[in-house]
Amino acid sequence: GLSIGIVGLPNVGKSTLFNAITRAGALAANYPFATIEPNVGRVPVPDERLGALAKVFTKGERVPPIIPTYVEFVDIAGLVKGASQGEGLGNQFLANIREVDAIAHVVRCFTDDNVIHVAGRVDPTDDIETINTELILADLAGLEKRLANLQKKAKGNDKDAREQAALAEQILAVLGEGRPARAGTYDAPIPKDFGLITTKPVIYVANVGEDELTEDNDAVRRVREYAARENAAVVKISAQIEGELAEMPEDEAREFLSDLGVQESGLDQLVKVGYETLGLITFITSGEKEVRAWTIRRGEKAPEAAGEIHSDLERGFIRAEVIEWQKMVEAGGWANAKAKGWVRTEGKDYVMQDGDIMNVLHSS
Ligand code: GDP
Repeated sequence: GLSIGIVGLPNVGKSTLFNAITRAGALAANYPFATIEPNVGRVPVPDERLGALAKVFTKGERVPPIIPTYVEFVDIAGLVKGASQGEGLGNQFLANIREVDAIAHVVRCFTDDNVIHVAGRVDPTDDIETINTELILADLAGLEKRLANLQKKAKGNDKDAREQAALAEQILAVLGEGRPARAGTYDAPIPKDFGLITTKPVIYVANVGEDELTEDNDAVRRVREYAARENAAVVKISAQIEGELAEMPEDEAREFLSDLGVQESGLDQLVKVGYETLGLITFITSGEKEVRAWTIRRGEKAPEAAGEIHSDLERGFIRAEVIEWQKMVEAGGWANAKAKGWVRTEGKDYVMQDGDIMNVLHSS
């Protein structure tokens, strides 16, 4: 699944948000959780389609269980100004942040004189740059070490090492200008084992006061301007409200949100934006047994998608029965959908679409 690391300066609301995430996850946890570390919280990906399909496949009293996909949030503590030079940016920090797929960068956009700001004032642009600089410095330090190793190997006539060294130099030039690695264009794709942080997409999370969710305040506007220059997404949330929402039953939460003038919780928005940012889509398997969502990358073909369910299904893939979820709701079940001719037969080259329902036919 998708994992998102939460970073930001101290006192911007990271823990408040993370606590809301773990509570929301606990509430939704009719799911066999593996024990996960204290700095990891897991929340279901909101998806109205699953509920609609569960109704379709309800037989008498039996409502099929809904199994959503999950997003993992990792609380990446320990990033402060100067951290890349000192103790703050320890191995644990680096290990945590290197694991995640995307970064949620929490920015303080609320004013509260009782909450001390590390820099003495609320200045979102400055705050963002402080964190981004630390991440760039961490990448510079890591990549310089790697380059030294690669150069040693390159002397021994290792062609791969020579090519990788050239790539590392290109990336270092970008980092050296104070730009994240993702801002550059290179001759080759960056290998995962370079362990870079600034290749990961960033979502800026503007944390506002609870009465500031509808109209953007000055600070939020600055975050939006900054993010626009990087083509990054912004999600406006109130970490405090997320905490309150996480305690409420669903219908109560919906009413509370609409009283505040918003449609969707910040957490739900963050999850959705995370999916969009990473080019992830959902396909569904459904029947009377269960209604289940699966995460794949946009552009994946039917056999790869089948492999998400089970590797046997990819290996033995013959063809797939595919139908758009709305058509299934309209038809009211597989038999009727087939009778109407709405279930297509797709082969190995079929590119999966968001919201497809798939039934894999395979040899065993
Ligand atoms: P962290 O250091 O980034 O993890 O920040 P915390 O989540 O611990 O928040 C720091 C302080 O800011 C705490 O006292 C929070 O209660 C407070 N805080 C967080 N979000 C908000 C908010 O939206 N409004 C206000 N007024 N205070 C907040």
